[in-house]
Amino acid sequence: MDLQTPFPRGEEPTPPRIAVIGGGITGLAAAWQLQQKVEGTGFQYTLLEASGRWGGKIRTERIDGFGVSPFVVEAGPDAFVTQKPWALELARELGLEERLLGTDDRRRRTYVRVQGRLTPLPEGIMLIVPTRFRPFLTSRLFSLRGKLRMGLELFIPPRQDETDETLADFIRRRLGAEVLDRLGEPLLAGIYNADAERQSLLATFPRFRELERRYGSLTRGMWAMRRRTRHPAGASPRPLFMSFRTGMAELVEALVPRLTGDLRLNTRVEGLERRPTGGYRLRLSDGGTLEASGVILAIPAAGAAHLLADLAPEAAARLRALRTVSTGTVSLAFRAQDAPRLEGFGVVIPRSEGRAINAITWTTAKFPERAPEGYELVRVFFGGSRTPHTFALEDTELLATVQRELAEILGIRAAPLFHRIHRWPRAQPQYDVGHLERVAAIEAALPPDIRVVGSPYRGVGIPDCIHQGREAALCLAAVLETQRKLSTQAARG
Ligand SMILES: Cc1cc2nc3c(=O)[nH]c(=O)nc-3n(C[C@H](O)[C@H](O)[C@H](O)COP(=O)(O)OP(=O)(O)OC[C@H]3O[C@@H](n4cnc5c(N)ncnc54)[C@H](O)[C@@H]3O)c2cc1C
Repeated sequence: MDLQTPFPRGEEPTPPRIAVIGGGITGLAAAWQLQQKVEGTGFQYTLLEASGRWGGKIRTERIDGFGVSPFVVEAGPDAFVTQKPWALELARELGLEERLLGTDDRRRRTYVRVQGRLTPLPEGIMLIVPTRFRPFLTSRLFSLRGKLRMGLELFIPPRQDETDETLADFIRRRLGAEVLDRLGEPLLAGIYNADAERQSLLATFPRFRELERRYGSLTRGMWAMRRRTRHPAGASPRPLFMSFRTGMAELVEALVPRLTGDLRLNTRVEGLERRPTGGYRLRLSDGGTLEASGVILAIPAAGAAHLLADLAPEAAARLRALRTVSTGTVSLAFRAQDAPRLEGFGVVIPRSEGRAINAITWTTAKFPERAPEGYELVRVFFGGSRTPHTFALEDTELLATVQRELAEILGIRAAPLFHRIHRWPRAQPQYDVGHLERVAAIEAALPPDIRVVGSPYRGVGIPDCIHQGREAALCLAAVLETQRKLSTQAARG
């Protein structure tokens, strides 16, 4: 690593300031970690957010007036996965344990719309692999031919090399085209709002390749995992997904008041240049400037490319090449009598069904606390590579389309009590095949005192974003400490 001394010989080093650009969960987590790291070391940090609120894609609206408790409508994430520890860890550090809300996994059931009918995922399916025979054999989700092809998975030799492949190629290779159409594409590519024919296996489901290699078969690997995760009788496993009692925003609302650094809302960073004497100068939208020894960019890749265009042109060009798609959700509230609750968390819709939407979450089945007693909340997902034409619709037409889909798919014909449309233009990073190599090349092309982190790079989920933010803070603090020692030595001698 090239560690330049940031201060010229003889000049007294000022306490290093780290600028964190972007006040979404990644930038907030970076600031939180810096705060732990910097206490007593003389580091300082400034967190700069372009908009007038913290949290980025984490945005919760609480709507009163219908009962004792409010409706809780999420514009972005509605939960985080608990298998990765970093969101839970942060929640605990912030004293939010009592506020955590788990899904009731006994009622977890996902439906797939197949040839116009809602078909439940058979019990025992782990992601896309059956781990229990009877429910799988009796399920109507797959044809007999499809089931036989899935069984062949046990005998297909594992791929040994380390090269990436698309999720679609992997699923076709191991489990067959029907699993790709009915599960892989709507469920797994759906999590990433991605196109399975372009999606990187190694960047999104590396575990599949590991299991294939280790056990010779994905199915055998899943069986082994299932045996290992079995819980003793009576012990209740941790829910797979969790949120907070009044929405994901609780994480942000607990974190921000604990940050004691220099926090600035409504401050867009418009330019970033190297100072002749070391470190960086940030040009801000309020007309001011900020000097920093190191910078964490926790913003979309296109914004990072813009700021790095002169400073690190190779990294900027590579950042510009990272694809995004536009997605959105419509949340709709109903009286319970107008929308009989689905016995499950939601519906995924294969591309081959040719519908105008991608998926439906029955929010109040997943978290009953999201609506007052006697009401239901449903959330429809659209856009991305599957239904870009729906994203292009004006609001009125979009709502009419969504209501038509709800009537045909779930039989809900009543008009909603209210609805909320949230659009996220060019905001969903796409991890295309070769993604990890592209990210490594970006990181290698950056100066050691500049980091890019967040959903465009090494995981889109909230736990991954928190982890990336914290790791970047630790790495950057270590680099700056070393630079400071080198400067001090240079000044002395
Ligand atoms: C509809 C939807 C549903 C999702 N559901 C889930 C889910 O259920 N579970 C899950 O784990 N994840 C989910 N995700 C993904 C997750 O929400 C995101 O990956 C994560 O919140 C991204 O956080 P971030 O801090 O990296 O980026 P962002 O939240 O995008 O924050 C970036 C911030 O940078 C600011 N900014 C941009 N440019 C500048 C600049 N030049 N100067 C200063 N500030 C700037 C922006 O205003 C923004 O606040 C979902 C995402 C969407 C859109």
